[in-house]
Amino acid sequence: MPQLPQERRLITAIPGPRSLELQARKTAAVARGVGTVMPVYAVAANGGVVVDVDGNSLIDFGSGIAVTTVGNSAPAVVTAVQDQLAAFTHTCFMVTPYDGYVRVAEALNRITPGDHAKRTALFNSGAEAVENAVKIARSFTRKQAVVAFDHAYHGRTNLTMALTAKNQPYKSGFGPFAGEVYRAPTSDPFRDHELDGAVTARRAIEVIEKQVGAENLAAVVIEPIQGEGGFVVPAPGFLPALAQWCRDNGVVFVADEVQTGFARTGDLFACDHEGVVPDLIVTAKGIAGGLPLAAVTGRAEIMDAPHVGGLGGTYGGNPLACAAALAVIDTIETENLVDRARAIGDLMTERLKATQAADKRLGDVRGRGAMIAVELVAPGTNEPDADLTRRVAAAAHAQGLIVLTCGTFGNVLRFLPPLSIPDQLLTEGLDLLDAILKES
Ligand code: PMP
Repeated sequence: MPQLPQERRLITAIPGPRSLELQARKTAAVARGVGTVMPVYAVAANGGVVVDVDGNSLIDFGSGIAVTTVGNSAPAVVTAVQDQLAAFTHTCFMVTPYDGYVRVAEALNRITPGDHAKRTALFNSGAEAVENAVKIARSFTRKQAVVAFDHAYHGRTNLTMALTAKNQPYKSGFGPFAGEVYRAPTSDPFRDHELDGAVTARRAIEVIEKQVGAENLAAVVIEPIQGEGGFVVPAPGFLPALAQWCRDNGVVFVADEVQTGFARTGDLFACDHEGVVPDLIVTAKGIAGGLPLAAVTGRAEIMDAPHVGGLGGTYGGNPLACAAALAVIDTIETENLVDRARAIGDLMTERLKATQAADKRLGDVRGRGAMIAVELVAPGTNEPDADLTRRVAAAAHAQGLIVLTCGTFGNVLRFLPPLSIPDQLLTEGLDLLDAILKES
């Protein structure tokens, strides 16, 4: 498909009449629990825009929640998937395997942190992969307990709901949750004013030692930068100290890089920033340009602990998704998208910090690479202003800018543009936000 005009173009109100019609049909046909951030129905997307059924062209600061990192319908992905589609669509890797799966495993073993011997297993979603990382860690350690952190998000399946911290909307009414899941305090420099990562790691380790015990603990599961929890970047030293404690205590250190992986943060993986080498790394989202794929990659001896037949699933590592992933990884490397993510981060951070200097409601501007957030607060405090956040997001949507919110307190605007977005759209989106903040 030819590249869409890279412009914001509004020809109706947002949402337009066709979107409203579809939204009424959605309400009648789709379970209410499946919500939509913006009831604007897409027909095409690439570069930095999403075009809707009414012909409006919106600036994309969301990438379908950090998925279309290489761009929507990225040319290399389209070609690879079309070729695979014409060859075969499915055999089930557990029945008659195919080389795409093996090649994705080889690629992930090569590009994930650490140069030790690795193995990979493929799944369909981030949550499914996190669950499997826990299964693998339990099988290897022959222990059961799992530690997750305050503000964590790991998914919506039963075990991952237990790992996820926030009640609404993820958990309320859906219990009972899986057992042997414990929660430790995280490092949140803006809220706890503790900038020393070693101190915050010690605080977490004390809770783990006192309330769980390393002798019972199979795995520590952590997002190197928290996603849904509010783009919380831990203080430097926090992750390395936790990883070291895990190594010293026979605990599997699992990095959930579902949101942060694949160049998003200006490194191939967020763990790379501090040279942290996780025992297991969980990836999804950006891995396959929008096709459903997820992976657990890690130390060969841990990954090989489960018995033959103990891991798998009908669709895990589907051939189309594998073809897409190989094209994504190639695109990231050949187009140097790690550098592009850093450039986007620099541009956004500089602009947002300038806005913050003049507007004290921007309590914190943080993030890394193309994963940037603004925390909105009552001026001069860290008291969350969720209402302002909602109003700014709604105004942005009405003006054709796709932005998402996040955070335990619902007061974080998060920006996850595709790395294929041109600078002029980034700038236009930030100009819009500036104008909206002035009026809000
Ligand atoms: N872990 C993290 C860090 C995530 O951000 C997400 C999705 N937002 C998940 C796990 C769950 O992934 P999925 O929605 O593909 O199951």
